[in-house]
Amino acid sequence: MIAGGAVIVTGGRITAVGSRDGLLRDAPGTTELSFPDATLLPGLINAHVHLGFDASDKPTLRFQDPGDPAALALMMAGHARQLLDVGVTTARDLGDRDGLAARVRDAIAAGSIPGPRLLVAGAPITPSGGHCWYLGGVADGEAQIRQRVRENAAAGVDLIKVMASGGQTTPGGAGMSESQYSTRELVALVEEAHGLGLPVAAHAHGIASIDSAIAAGVDTIEHCTFLAGPGRFEPSDELAARIVAKDIAVCPGSSGNWRALGRKIGDDRAYAMVGRTKWLADRGVRVIAGTDAGLSAFNDFPMALRRYLDFGFRPEQVIAAATVEAAAATGVGHVTGRLAEGFDADILVVDGDPRTDLTALASPVLVLAQGRTHLPPESVMRGAGRSRPAHS
Ligand SMILES: [Zn+2]
Repeated sequence: MIAGGAVIVTGGRITAVGSRDGLLRDAPGTTELSFPDATLLPGLINAHVHLGFDASDKPTLRFQDPGDPAALALMMAGHARQLLDVGVTTARDLGDRDGLAARVRDAIAAGSIPGPRLLVAGAPITPSGGHCWYLGGVADGEAQIRQRVRENAAAGVDLIKVMASGGQTTPGGAGMSESQYSTRELVALVEEAHGLGLPVAAHAHGIASIDSAIAAGVDTIEHCTFLAGPGRFEPSDELAARIVAKDIAVCPGSSGNWRALGRKIGDDRAYAMVGRTKWLADRGVRVIAGTDAGLSAFNDFPMALRRYLDFGFRPEQVIAAATVEAAAATGVGHVTGRLAEGFDADILVVDGDPRTDLTALASPVLVLAQGRTHLPPESVMRGAGRSRPAHS
């Protein structure tokens, strides 16, 4: 933390970080933006979103109905902008259809539309009738799995997403606690993906699916709920130790709103399910932040981060999980997640000090995404109940 600090941005890059007085002396002619009571931190990373889901009661409906791809792509562009509004400058899209997220990614990179840097998985790989089969990534058996990985790679994805267990949004498929693939099949998938230079994110709720994902050497485990059967959570010290040994990061892929979940399944169970991330962190597992936006709102990331405090995380831990740790775990630790010379100018300016009060994250004053300026709209501050500072 630098009190009275400054960051010099040239083009899309950070070219210097240090004390304000020294830096401005060395860089005459620099246009200065001053935020006296604000904190500058790296732009946030939401490691689990679905731009194509619409965060309604039936979030995946538009995807199940073929509909109009152009309309869907425009909706996804709007969602990307909502992420940026709350300071998210990098997001991983972990499942869409028809390569649309990659188009949105490319339009943002070209500067055509505002949005965060996107890392896209394309269609998640899943068996016939399995979780999210309607996104088009169906593959049964080793040969088809390898073929599907190669097809996604050819379509320009940044990573491979596999549905190692069932999920809650696909009726008729495997249950959440059941595995969709054998360990051998996941090993083949990871081998093929890594051979093409692509990391693997595995959706895994069930204990057996988590076990297989670890054995296969995936890069991140999404959800990691430790479901032993319907409604039975059995966190395993042995599995947690193996996750640490393999340096796999865990993304809860949840809005963190355990109280809302509690109204459906009871507070104790909801807390046990969502609060497991702290249990994992206490055992040395690298936890990174992600909300499954698309199933939840796109502009609630600051609120979702605040809920980590309910489980005993410290504010600094939460900020790291949404910046430097998430960048490293998603393969972009060399370009973002830190305010340091040579890194992309992904910068979030918030009113106040988030280390002492994490609600400060809900008061973004300015967002820079790869050096491009984005002014958050008033509406994103409503949830925080704080007024916008006059100097912004
Ligand atoms: Zn998801």
